Amino acid sequence: MAIVEPQSPTDDGHRRLALRSTATNEPVGEITVSTAEDVADAVTRARVAQQEWAEVPIAERAKIIRRAVDLLVKYREEIIETIRRDTGKTHIDALMIEIIAGLDFLTHWCARAVKDLSDEPLKPHGFQRVLKKVVMHYRPLGVVGVITPWNGPFALAINPSVQALLAGNAVLVKPSEVAPHSADWAVRLLHEAGVPEDAIQVLHGDGETGAALVRAGIDKISFTGSVGTGKKIAAACAEQLIPCTLELGGKDAMIVCADADLERAAGGAVFASVFNSGHVCMGVERIYVVESVADEFERLVEEKLREVRCGSGDDCDVGALFWDRQLSIIERHIEDAKAKGAEVIVGGEAVTNGGLFYPPTLVCNVDHSMALMKDETFGPIVSIMRVKDEEEALRLANDSEYGLSGSVWTKDTEKGVALAKRMETGSVLINDASMSYGILEAPFGGMKDSGLGQMNGMRSLRNYTFAQPIGVARRAPKTEPHWYPHSDKTTKDLDGMVKLVYGTVLKKLPFFTG
Ligand code: NAD
Repeated sequence: MAIVEPQSPTDDGHRRLALRSTATNEPVGEITVSTAEDVADAVTRARVAQQEWAEVPIAERAKIIRRAVDLLVKYREEIIETIRRDTGKTHIDALMIEIIAGLDFLTHWCARAVKDLSDEPLKPHGFQRVLKKVVMHYRPLGVVGVITPWNGPFALAINPSVQALLAGNAVLVKPSEVAPHSADWAVRLLHEAGVPEDAIQVLHGDGETGAALVRAGIDKISFTGSVGTGKKIAAACAEQLIPCTLELGGKDAMIVCADADLERAAGGAVFASVFNSGHVCMGVERIYVVESVADEFERLVEEKLREVRCGSGDDCDVGALFWDRQLSIIERHIEDAKAKGAEVIVGGEAVTNGGLFYPPTLVCNVDHSMALMKDETFGPIVSIMRVKDEEEALRLANDSEYGLSGSVWTKDTEKGVALAKRMETGSVLINDASMSYGILEAPFGGMKDSGLGQMNGMRSLRNYTFAQPIGVARRAPKTEPHWYPHSDKTTKDLDGMVKLVYGTVLKKLPFFTG
């Protein structure tokens, strides 16, 4: 979608927002904005449902949720259709980063749930091992709010929701008002799979609804969206001492070394800059190419970009812009870059007859005085800056308020890894870009303004629990040597232990170090 147009309120005073497709300009439904009272009602119902859902054994929760895999396969074309109406993206973008990603999230988290969430013994070191048996219990947090953006409206709703549900929480999803109906599908699939109605609910609305959800006395917020909103949510969560995960914007740098496979690097640069209409948090937004190979790299990028077809047809590679307001940001960045000496080689003008399209665009001769290289553009733009060497590329890559992801392109993997370790970003890929979120075993999250906390990774399901150690005394005499009353003997025994263990080689034994 979507062009969002306020309408007259409903009879009971709810605000209404009508939506028009950015691909066709046609009306594509409307949403009624949930008020703070609606949110409070949903939280009350979710609290009741969560108590029962948490009683369902983990293996059974996983079995129920796994049924959504078959449902997602079955309904995939209808879901793609909804996502396309919501966003204007191409069929293949919806299939690739919403449906296939959604299937992978569901199968992977369901497969891990029992192992990651069951109680497990913990072996303490030192005297505590003799005295206590410890079991780790992963308690559900309660009610989790999932607030999502418009660029991946199905995948970004289903991933955190499934994880939170598997961990025994109830979930309230607040999708973006710009692309609201894709999240309805995520919730419908889970209901049809057997998750109780109130254990996962959708609350439609805009920032007002999101803000009400954050303040509704829930137990965690999983937020994906802009830096500005993320900071407001962090402040509200801090006041209430509730945890939040913030997955925010990015300005990902791609470093093209002199020894890169230029054919592959150019193909990667084009795809990672323009897929999903360039609305990708970890899309490539800045390219630094070493001077000695810049001519050839730019030539290859231009050649490949000219082949990318933009439009609403089934044969198109890049669809419409998803939001009319994004166009003004893209245009501002391009105009600013042109005024400061950048050269637009391909594209550079919106096409607005019958829809809202911005053809894939190549801009060369850019530098850090330009908004195009500093602020998140979130559009289908390939921006290339020439640099003296890899050190200059690295310095410029790190010269950013963002730090979501990045990439290094070289045939020398060892050098690539060394450069990666010096990049101030949440993740780095060598000879690939924009795919870190898909490595579910790896935590995904941003440094600097790109976020707080991490999504996915080996501990991800546990991030929706409180890790509660339960220690059981191995022996239960009437009293313990360190309890009251204390005497000279207590002090002497403790001091003797200090000398015996920490004053000798005993302290090096694994029993004492853990
Ligand atoms: P946004 O911050 O405007 O909106 C995101 C969500 O927050 C929407 O549902 C919106 O209604 C809601 N919201 C708005 N104000 C709120 C408030 N005060 N309190 C609570 N909720 C509020 O972001 P957007 O424009 O929808 O999304 C684009 C941004 O998301 C880009 O910056 C992009 O990089 C980022 N993003 C990040 C990731 C990631 O994983 N790091 C993934 C996708 C998108």
